[in-house]
Amino acid sequence: MYAFNYHKVSSVADAAAKLASNSEAKLLAGGQTLIAALKMRLASPSDLVDLGGIAEMRGIKADGGKIVIGAMSTHAEVAASKDVKQSIPALAVLAEGIGDRMVRNMGTLGGSIANTDPAADYPAGVVGLGATIVTNQRSIAADDFFKGMYDTALQPGEIITKVSFPVPQKCGYSKFANPASRYAIVGVFVAQTASGVRVAVTGAGPSVFRVPEMEKALAANFAPEAVSRIKVSDGNLNSDMHASAEYRAHLVGVMAGRAVAAALAR
Ligand SMILES: Cc1cc2nc3c(=O)[nH]c(=O)nc-3n(C[C@H](O)[C@H](O)[C@H](O)COP(=O)(O)OP(=O)(O)OC[C@H]3O[C@@H](n4cnc5c(N)ncnc54)[C@H](O)[C@@H]3O)c2cc1C
Repeated sequence: MYAFNYHKVSSVADAAAKLASNSEAKLLAGGQTLIAALKMRLASPSDLVDLGGIAEMRGIKADGGKIVIGAMSTHAEVAASKDVKQSIPALAVLAEGIGDRMVRNMGTLGGSIANTDPAADYPAGVVGLGATIVTNQRSIAADDFFKGMYDTALQPGEIITKVSFPVPQKCGYSKFANPASRYAIVGVFVAQTASGVRVAVTGAGPSVFRVPEMEKALAANFAPEAVSRIKVSDGNLNSDMHASAEYRAHLVGVMAGRAVAAALAR
């Protein structure tokens, strides 16, 4: 039997209070990772604090030069959003490519980046666009948020409430997906902005990372051929039953070229 207390809260303040009163409590968003972890006995929280009833954590808004997405927005909502499709089309493409229809209808932006699976798609979009993660306590720049495999800058009791994405001039995302789960074997997000080009890679290493050499090359020539032959070192890349580190290193160049081509095609 699972033994935990279930709390359905209606505000971020209520959720924070529940977390503060019990160090063994865990937040529940879409449950697409956490419920599986409970079933496999990989997690055994004393309390589950369900964020599903918090209206202030939902919704997608265009705000000046930014698109602000509530942490409880599902992947399906991001994929279908007119504002996202118009201003950051590659983010809609990224959300549409996550998992299957059920996962997209349940899984959330906040749950995805809090969990930080090394093969998750959103970390590439969040870092590639230089987004800001807003919590109930502070704002965290994307470059400071992802710390390693399943590791983020979040402190105990901290709740992601929304993510603010600056609108780029151009952007593209390309993923070589695991054919069963659709998780990224390698995914590359490229964004051209007024202050330079950002290239963020997910799936290849323990956590999302940027490729400065590609960013420099694309700043000089925003074209697929500028990056497709740049080799990243396979020294720190993942090697598993799905792909060797060497193959992942090769895929980074291929996916980066395709991401740039996708950005130029819009
Ligand atoms: C079959 C399958 C296929 C999938 N394929 C893909 C894929 O192709 N690409 C991809 O990127 N992902 C994929 N996923 C993952 C999925 O997209 C979810 O994003 C992910 O499981 C976590 O989101 P969630 O909302 O379900 O969070 P939950 O499972 O509810 O929570 C995950 C963790 O985040 C914490 N958390 C949740 N919300 C917050 C918050 N607001 N603030 C702080 N902490 C929080 C929870 O306490 C928990 O530790 C797949 C999942 C499944 C089951």
